Amino acid sequence: MTENIKDKVVVITGASSGLGAETARQLVKNGARVVLGARRVDRLEALAEELGLGKDAILGADVADAAQVQALVDKAIASHGRIDVMINNAGVMPLAPLELLQIKEWHQVIDINIKGVLHGVAAALPYMKTQKSGHFINVSSVAGHKVRPGNVVYAATKHAVRAISEGLRQEVKPYNIRTTILSPGAIDTELPGSITATEVAKATQGYYAQNAIPASSFARCALFAIGQPDDVDINEILFRPTRQE
Ligand code: NDP
Repeated sequence: MTENIKDKVVVITGASSGLGAETARQLVKNGARVVLGARRVDRLEALAEELGLGKDAILGADVADAAQVQALVDKAIASHGRIDVMINNAGVMPLAPLELLQIKEWHQVIDINIKGVLHGVAAALPYMKTQKSGHFINVSSVAGHKVRPGNVVYAATKHAVRAISEGLRQEVKPYNIRTTILSPGAIDTELPGSITATEVAKATQGYYAQNAIPASSFARCALFAIGQPDDVDINEILFRPTRQE
């Protein structure tokens, strides 16, 4: 069992599939108390049943809406009296070259990947300041380090997540609040499903089929950061499949 995880209250956005769901599984195995949000409530209900959690452990919450993220964090406080870790994980990856002018998707990815993280910060920070303890884990990407043709808007959102997280770290350290950026490469989840540009979707799905690593790789990193002694802040973990560029 990983140290310093048992009984921690952990809120996860985007917990209905992929990295969020797998991290919830590993946290529960290690004795954490999780509160899980996403838009697909049926998927959250199935996960709660799998993990033996009650209805108070899940809430339908769209991260693009600050009030819904606040309700998710408030639920953790109502159920457990505190929040130890806020994992701002929800995200979409509608990759497409800029010249396709998918302006509606640009707005969506900014609302979810950037504003969603800010909404998570806004919801949890006041509680963590009062507690004088807490931990933000914000999910960026290798694309938060590397822009390439076809991933520009997604990469911009993931660069923004890293900038927000580093600024947050510097501002909240006096309150004994830790900030970790997790920046994975290709991991086998439903994420390529958010690509609507047909050619890009085909190429990305092919790439993932060949190269992606399991979601457990991400959960291990999340638990490693959470499980550190309270005076150790893992600032960023950048990792990817060994064969990824
Ligand atoms: P999935 O598509 O499997 O999961 C994405 C999760 O985000 C789902 O639970 C989805 O739930 C949720 N989500 C999407 N939009 C919203 C929204 N508006 N409000 C609330 N929840 C939302 O992909 P991953 O698990 O891979 O993605 C998790 C994070 O990891 C993302 O931020 C992604 O960018 C990042 N990442 C993933 C990589 C990968 O290769 N898999 C690589 C690098 C980073 P629902 O639809 O039910 O709302």
